[in-house]
Amino acid sequence: MEESRVSLVGHTTEEIIALLGERPQAKLRGKQIAGNLYKRAILDFQQMMDLPQALRDDLTTHFLPQPLQVATHRTSTDKVQKLLVHNGDDQVFECVLLPYEDRVSCCISSQVGCPMGCRFCATGLGGFDRNLSAGEIVGQYLMLQGLSERRISHVVFMGMGEPMLNLKNVVGALRLLHDEVGLSYRHLTVSTVGIVPQIYELAEEQMPIHLALSLHSPLDEVRNRLMPVNHKWPVDEVMKAMRDYHKATGRKITIEYLLIKDVTDTPEQAMELARLIRGVPSVVNLIPFNWVDTEQGFARPERDRVRQFRGILANKGVNATERVERGHDIAAACGQLAGQHLGKFARRSGTSPLVVLS
Ligand code: SAH
Ligand code: SF4
Repeated sequence: MEESRVSLVGHTTEEIIALLGERPQAKLRGKQIAGNLYKRAILDFQQMMDLPQALRDDLTTHFLPQPLQVATHRTSTDKVQKLLVHNGDDQVFECVLLPYEDRVSCCISSQVGCPMGCRFCATGLGGFDRNLSAGEIVGQYLMLQGLSERRISHVVFMGMGEPMLNLKNVVGALRLLHDEVGLSYRHLTVSTVGIVPQIYELAEEQMPIHLALSLHSPLDEVRNRLMPVNHKWPVDEVMKAMRDYHKATGRKITIEYLLIKDVTDTPEQAMELARLIRGVPSVVNLIPFNWVDTEQGFARPERDRVRQFRGILANKGVNATERVERGHDIAAACGQLAGQHLGKFARRSGTSPLVVLS
């Protein structure tokens, strides 16, 4: 049966108060409910001990605390936890809890699948289903917080989907994470393939969040082959938008750079990358390719090759870090979040015309 109850997660405290309608002490109760949901990640009305029993029963009948159900939950040997979730149908998406020594981070999805069709990405190879609502986005954070002993202080939008194609709901979720959950905007990172008009739109929201660009090559001819989006917004255009984002927000920009053996890992591209970002306050995050079965047979470069690439950047004064792969045994890494229970890269419905799988 289709769920008809409205989910409270996804709404602000004011909206929750309004949803309580004529119930007694709606203002006080709404604040308590929002505090339980967002501040304490209590996602079961019956566990909200500061509410009278009658109200807990009433809420259980008329509302959902949050929209998500867990399909699978896996924990890796290095303490990464991955949830595969859905909201009652077969459209599953994934989120990952990443505990570090000094902080706990999480990686969440903005869409079910992705229409951008990047050639190296399991999500992209699987096609696109739909956008997630703000409640489904924040719900992922809260479900993961429920699993974590420590508070999750950092959120990255690097799961499934292209956040800029679902900007309204992503901005709604960012506001809820800031205003209701209480996270710092500085600890929120949105990663994009580089959809130029939306980069400007995000800059206008006046939220000092981090923006990461999945650049992956400074050369149009290489990027064109990897990422269909580059035909529409080539390297120079997207880099200008990133520089303008920095000017508008004051935030350093992050450049994500995927190292694919003999495709993007050449010394020539390291030099060109250094030239491209000269003068822009930025960090480069090097991501050795996580194996995905691609038509082109993409592979991960050897360690020495990665070191060489990084060395060239360092010589040019570029601040580069290398992403340490976590959760390998549960396929929790970037580009592998493809809803694997559907079978390897089961194609989704509704793939957009942007995807040209050759
Ligand atoms: N759509 C957004 C955010 C989600 S993807 C974007 O593309 O930026 C998060 C990151 O994972 C991106 O930088 C993406 O390029 C990277 N990624 C995709 N496939 C990968 C793979 N097979 N190995 C390593 N990183 C990958
Ligand atoms: Fe979509 Fe990002 Fe994967 Fe490209 S890399 S297909 S934009 S999720």
